[in-house]
Amino acid sequence: MNTTHLRPRAPYEGCRADFESAEIVLVGAGYDGTSSYRPGSRFAPGAIRAETFYSQEDYSPYFRRDLKEKPIHDAGDLDLPFGDRDGALALIYQTAREIFHAGKKPCFIGGEHLITLPLVQAALEAHPDLRIVQIDAHLDLMDELFGSPLSHGTVMRRCHDLLGEDRRIFQAAIRSGSKEEFEFAEAHTRLFPFHTRELAKETAALKGFPVYLTLDLDAFDPSLIPGTGTPEAGGIFFPEYIELLKALEGLNIVGCDMVELAPQLDPSNVSTIAATKILRELLMIV
Ligand code: MN
Ligand code: MN
Repeated sequence: MNTTHLRPRAPYEGCRADFESAEIVLVGAGYDGTSSYRPGSRFAPGAIRAETFYSQEDYSPYFRRDLKEKPIHDAGDLDLPFGDRDGALALIYQTAREIFHAGKKPCFIGGEHLITLPLVQAALEAHPDLRIVQIDAHLDLMDELFGSPLSHGTVMRRCHDLLGEDRRIFQAAIRSGSKEEFEFAEAHTRLFPFHTRELAKETAALKGFPVYLTLDLDAFDPSLIPGTGTPEAGGIFFPEYIELLKALEGLNIVGCDMVELAPQLDPSNVSTIAATKILRELLMIV
C-alpha cells in the first residue's frame, strides 16, 4: 500500500493485522472543510483510536465475536490538504481505489460526510451494481449548498448522480431536509424516515447486491451523541442500531464509513466513547 500520505497512529486496538493479510482496511480521513454549522470532525479519527486504547473492549457481546477474529489493518490517518477540497477528495479516492484493487474492504472514519463521495466513486468502479445504505438525520440531497455542488449537504445527491439510476440509495433515520429534498427522495431514492426499523424489514431488496454502508453519526439522538456538527433532535438509540446491524448482517457489504463525529463539541467525551462502540459493532458485520 502506498503510505506516502498516511500518518501512522497508535493503531486501533484489535485491528493489528498487516495490510497483506487484512480483509478490512481502516483509514482516518478527518476532512471537515465544508461543515456548514459546527466543524471539528477532523479530530474524530485520533479521538476514536485513543478511546479504543483506554475504554473499549475488542469483544462484542451483541455479536459474540472479537475484533481480532477478523483480520483488520489500521492504515492510519490520511494527511489531507485541508484548504484544498479537491486535493483532499482526490487523496481519499486514490486510497480507497487502492484498497478495492487489493480485493479488500475500506472502512473510513471521517471527517464530515463529503468524504463519502470519493469512497462511493471508488466502490462503484470496483462494484458497478453498488447499492448505498445511508443512516443519517439528513437527506443530504441538496443540489448545491452556498453555491457549491460539493458539500456534506449535497453528498447523496452527487452519489445519486454517480449511480445514474433511481432507487439504489436506501436512506434511513432521516428527519431533516428541505421540501425539495424530500420530493427528490420520494422520486429517486428509497426513504425510510425517522427510524431504521422499516429498512431492517426491507433488507431482502439488498440481497445479491454489493452494498456500501455510510453512517452519519447525527442519525443518533443528540442526547447520545451531542458531539456532532449538525445535531438533530429525534434520533435513534443504540439498541435500534444493533437491531439494524443484525438485519444487515449477511449482506455483501463491500465498504463503509462512519462520519460527522466532532469530539471537541462534547466535553464529557461520551460522544466519542459511544462512536467507538458504534464502530466496533459496525466492523462485526462488514
Ligand atoms: Mn450526512
Ligand atoms: Mn447528518
